[in-house]
Amino acid sequence: ASESNLIRATLFPGDGIGPEIAESVKEVFRAADVPIEWEEHYVGLDIDPRTQSFLTWESLESVRRNKVGLKGPMATPIGKGHRSLNLTLRKELNLYANVRPCYSLPGYKTRYDDVDLVTIRENTEGEYSGLEHQVVRGVVESLKIITRQASLRVAEYAFLYAKTHGRQRVSAIHKANIMQKTDGLFLKCCREVAEKYPEITYEEVVIDNCCMMLVKNPALFDVLVMPNLYGDIISDLCAGLIGGLGLTPSCNIGEGGIALAEAVHGSAPDIAGKNLANPTALLLSAVTMLRHLELHDKAERIQDAILNTIAEGKYRTADLGGSSSTSDFTKAICDHL
Ligand code: NAD
Repeated sequence: ASESNLIRATLFPGDGIGPEIAESVKEVFRAADVPIEWEEHYVGLDIDPRTQSFLTWESLESVRRNKVGLKGPMATPIGKGHRSLNLTLRKELNLYANVRPCYSLPGYKTRYDDVDLVTIRENTEGEYSGLEHQVVRGVVESLKIITRQASLRVAEYAFLYAKTHGRQRVSAIHKANIMQKTDGLFLKCCREVAEKYPEITYEEVVIDNCCMMLVKNPALFDVLVMPNLYGDIISDLCAGLIGGLGLTPSCNIGEGGIALAEAVHGSAPDIAGKNLANPTALLLSAVTMLRHLELHDKAERIQDAILNTIAEGKYRTADLGGSSSTSDFTKAICDHL
């Protein structure tokens, strides 16, 4: 790629295993000749008063400017007077939807071979509004906030995602029979948006039934959209269907077209710095970033190389039952490209 065609993207290598798996992404992108120039930002050593967090203002500005980025795991230091790193990112960049594609990896055997679904989680409100208090001794209250604006925004994103990714169906997950006002409003917004997409089948599934259906036959689902807390739980359930958090990518969508892809797992301090981490989740997250940029050919090639390496079984990291190092596994992926 010539210099002028390079797309600038922000990279947060993050903490613990973060820098090792970020290095793996950089290597694979180089090998695949992806036209991306990384702007690397590390978590700061001091609290930045402008963000009240260890994340610097400059790093947030970098994502706002580039509108696209990749984030490794971040370990929020313990202590008072600062905001959690992930919460700072979510609030400051208004990351309103979390998208998690979940598909069976050929060659990595789990209970199911045919999982191919996407969960889309509302990321800004619901039970996560931080409005909890004690009413009287022994009685506490938590407010679940659902707004028309946020529900429409995430529903719009879900249908647009379905349409642009060739998906047939969107299921809204809810408990509106009990949470009549809150989940009721969420469903109403989903229905309104569904009317604009007659080519996509729309259905509503009560969350308890959804859990039962997912573990019995995950192939029943395509795209699922839901309020915050349900999304938190269901997306992990779906990750479990395909082999766990080491394999699942995710992407956060923010206001103004921002896309910040991230691995779902944490910084794995127990194996950090030992060249043992599995970079698959971050690599597949980087693939979702490429798809967001509509670099579909590169995305496809890299995804195939990762899946073929895992399927071949010669090079696998310890979490998948192998004995390869992060760098040997990465090299095997580059060889498959
Ligand atoms: P974790 O995901 O870091 O680790 C859980 C287990 O999974 C460990 O045994 C770890 O070795 C293993 N593991 C995780 N990712 C792996 C990978 N890529 N390859 C191989 N093995 C892997 O969860 P934790 O121990 O609860 O959290 C550690 C730190 O990470 C905490 O400070 C937490 O706050 C932070 N965290 C950050 C994020 C994020 O940035 N999105 C998410 C979760 C946890």
